[in-house]
Amino acid sequence: MIYLDNHATTPCDRRVLDRMLPWLTEKFGNPHSTSHEIGREAAQAIDSSLNVMGAILGVAADSILMTSGATESNNLAIDGVCRHPRQKRRNVITTTIEHPAVLDVVDRLEKDGFRVTRVPVHQQGHESAGQVDLAALRDALNEDTALVSVHWANNEIGVIQPLDQIAAMVHEAGALLHSDATQAVGRIPVSLAEVDVDLLSASAHKFYGPKGVGFLTIASGCHPRRVRLKPLIVGGGQQRNLRSGTMAPANVVGCAAAMELACAEIESTAREALSLRDRLWSGLNRSIDELRLNGSSLEPSGRLVGNLNVMLPGIEGEAWMSATPGVAFSSGSACSSVDAKPSHVLTGIGLSESEARRSVRFGVGKFNTRDEIELAIAALVEGFQRVAGSLQ
Ligand code: PMP
Repeated sequence: MIYLDNHATTPCDRRVLDRMLPWLTEKFGNPHSTSHEIGREAAQAIDSSLNVMGAILGVAADSILMTSGATESNNLAIDGVCRHPRQKRRNVITTTIEHPAVLDVVDRLEKDGFRVTRVPVHQQGHESAGQVDLAALRDALNEDTALVSVHWANNEIGVIQPLDQIAAMVHEAGALLHSDATQAVGRIPVSLAEVDVDLLSASAHKFYGPKGVGFLTIASGCHPRRVRLKPLIVGGGQQRNLRSGTMAPANVVGCAAAMELACAEIESTAREALSLRDRLWSGLNRSIDELRLNGSSLEPSGRLVGNLNVMLPGIEGEAWMSATPGVAFSSGSACSSVDAKPSHVLTGIGLSESEARRSVRFGVGKFNTRDEIELAIAALVEGFQRVAGSLQ
């Protein structure tokens, strides 16, 4: 199997697993039971992991909250800000192409009486297709806006959002900015010392760490825009009362180790992924007439370098996938592939439902090789020709 679905998840790096294992075996202490050495060493492992992550992300270690992943982080950021008892503002702004872990949260807020604005993005054909329409965002912001949630990079079309410009607008309106950076962390530089985001979510399994762990950074302490959150999970009061429950030292160590490795290797990984992705696109484009690129141009400044999203002439993405079982890729969003509806990201950039169904996503990652890409191109072209031939 050639794995080209690195936006859905990435394999855990063996070096990360090796760093985690002691915390699942002999070093089994509860990090909140610090009256003895075994608990204290677990607490210290968590502290030093948070320091590593804080240094990379440009935030204080104590503004990082460990969670079960980006889904929980997004829920906490959005619900937590909007449902805080001292929150007076009733408007939330997001985009039409966010992950369901954002869109479903704002849908629920809307049912509960909040006013939700879903700002459009540039349409297919625009050089920056998928980027937020900044004029529409400016028009949507108002004195009642509590929070704006815009992802850093998209999981289907890889578009990178202009977060620094968005942050300036949002803060001028006195609102808070949340960004779902799940597809960005470890792939492109993400520093909150440079981009002024108040809440940031991510999951370790997208940067070669374990599944089931992620984080939310929260502007706090002496930050000029202190964020007040209503917790989702209450109980023992761990993590400053914001997320009760015993922390998992192995997961926290794994998340930090994965982030450290991904960021140390970010340039070489990106160079290689860009070259392999470009080869995949040119190989497919040469053999499949009228194959179309979905989303923005392939320029690295506006699009994740491992991302490729293409529309086929005549056949559905699902049929291509079934005809090419040796290659792992996805139609629409893997996270919602249980849902047969066409991708809201693709319809959000203006594709029709039938065009969206004819589209697939590839995500090239750091363990892919040149040989794999050549084999994948041959298998994909052969699979396409078989399905297209059987339809004639
Ligand atoms: N946001 C984005 C942009 C994602 O790509 C994903 C995972 N597909 C998530 C949130 C949810 O992450 P998790 O499933 O790890 O909670």
